[in-house]
Amino acid sequence: MRWGLIGASQIAAFSMIAALRSFAGDRVISVLSSDPARARDYAALHDIAHAFTDLDQMLADPALDAVYISTTNDRHFAQAMAAIRAGKHVLCEKPLAMSVADAVTMVRAAQEAGLVLATNHHLRNAGSHQAMRDLIRAGRIGEVQSIRVFHAVYLRPELQGWRIDNPAAGGGVVADIATHDADVVRFLLGESPVDLVAMTSARALGKGVEDNAMSIWQMPSGVQVFCHVSFTHPHAGTGLEIHGTEGSIIARNVMTQRPGGTVDLHRGGQVEEVSFGERNLYAHGIGMFRDAVAGQGRPAADGADGVRSLAVAQAMLEAGRTGQRVTVDYGG
Ligand code: NDP
Repeated sequence: MRWGLIGASQIAAFSMIAALRSFAGDRVISVLSSDPARARDYAALHDIAHAFTDLDQMLADPALDAVYISTTNDRHFAQAMAAIRAGKHVLCEKPLAMSVADAVTMVRAAQEAGLVLATNHHLRNAGSHQAMRDLIRAGRIGEVQSIRVFHAVYLRPELQGWRIDNPAAGGGVVADIATHDADVVRFLLGESPVDLVAMTSARALGKGVEDNAMSIWQMPSGVQVFCHVSFTHPHAGTGLEIHGTEGSIIARNVMTQRPGGTVDLHRGGQVEEVSFGERNLYAHGIGMFRDAVAGQGRPAADGADGVRSLAVAQAMLEAGRTGQRVTVDYGG
């Protein structure tokens, strides 16, 4: 496939370009930036043939099959809609849009055009997360009662731009991290939160946006989920615990961009280390996207998954703002 990058971003530079190029014959042929010099420099640095500042010009290239959108969150919606109008498949970063209504519009537009729209929720591609889901499905921990997600990290200085001081660009830890956690929980349980309570705060880094949030979600099955996200915790590590009536799954350092971490199964006073395959999380997602474009299967996380993770994040922000328990609005 021939790919265009919408956004001269760090995630593309450090993870996605290499992952896209890991498929024999796939090429990254163009990049778009709002700044001509950055577009040129980025293209030169990453050996990309064409640099654009005009999206329609970039999309007019008939050689282009698909775009990967990784601009700031406020730009995803308009850029995705333009790509869909131009007949390109879209792999879009999370959150898909700034509102659930816009995200739903994206999904419908792609469906009507017969194009693949996927959300780059990488964590469900991890061998660790798939092993955990298999254990749940096999009944190894009995009936799931609760999940605890610890995803409190220290935001690296190079990422402390719009994420910590620009609400208009979609900054804040809820949009950045809690969207991923919503996707993970949905992936593990196969259901989406009904409602939630939350408290958000700006402890150290956030200026006009939250940098810390704790929330409790109620699932349709009755499972309760506790989720802690933060940009300000250098030493917390990440973790995921799934507690059932007959056992618990305790995973550490699995909420990461790279494969790894540990998964332990606790049952009857014994602890079993669970083995799982390690692979590039992003490349795995791209592989499923390519298959979906070829008419085989669905993307790892599709547009509807992106709508739902965004809806949970929006509910969390509203609950934090109002102090009320909020029903998650998935947009119909
Ligand atoms: P960046 O800040 O690196 O890039 C976002 C935009 O900021 C770019 O499109 C670019 O605009 C602009 N920009 C980049 N570098 C500079 C610079 N030096 N000076 C001025 N502007 C600059 O963001 P990230 O790569 O961290 O995140 C991009 C998107 O990807 C977000 O939606 C985020 O949520 C998502 N993301 C997803 C991850 C995942 O694992 N799925 C991980 C990390 C991010 P322009 O293109 O106009 O030049």
